Amino acid sequence: MELFERDRTYMLAAMEEAKKAETLGEVPIGAVIVYKEEIIGRAHNLRETSQNAVTHAELMAIQQACEAMGSWRLEETTLYVTLEPCPMCAGAILQSRIPRVVYGARDLKAGCVDSLYRLLNDSRFNHECEVVEGVLAEACGEMLTSFFRSLRERKKAEKLERRRLAAEYGNENDTN
Ligand SMILES: [Zn+2]
Repeated sequence: MELFERDRTYMLAAMEEAKKAETLGEVPIGAVIVYKEEIIGRAHNLRETSQNAVTHAELMAIQQACEAMGSWRLEETTLYVTLEPCPMCAGAILQSRIPRVVYGARDLKAGCVDSLYRLLNDSRFNHECEVVEGVLAEACGEMLTSFFRSLRERKKAEKLERRRLAAEYGNENDTN
């Protein structure tokens, strides 16, 4: 497979993971780790389900990949993730020596690969990564945008319903 085609293929796998998160009501972010054309780690964001702040897609995929490799060093692997990694996940990428990271959409508020910091390309650390950004970025970003849009709509509808119920309850009180 040509590199560009390969990156798209595995990003689609990361998007499949992100969709699993979405069906759980989680922010749709997914990640896969590939070693010699084989996916050795795949995970999606589970922060709400687990109520655990470290259950980001990348971290869980890294844990699986370390188990699969029997090593904390994930040499010759590529990590694909739908959203630019946060500082915690960028740290784990450095710690596990992943040499190549491919991500979809930028995270302007928390991304630490390009947006806020460039943690994966700082020569003061003992490891640097090859970074490819923007693979299927629009599709990855759209999943997030539509998720947050429907979340806002749902919250708005709930608020209106609460107001309606409050008004009804209030009226009942008045008539009593
Ligand atoms: Zn993260």
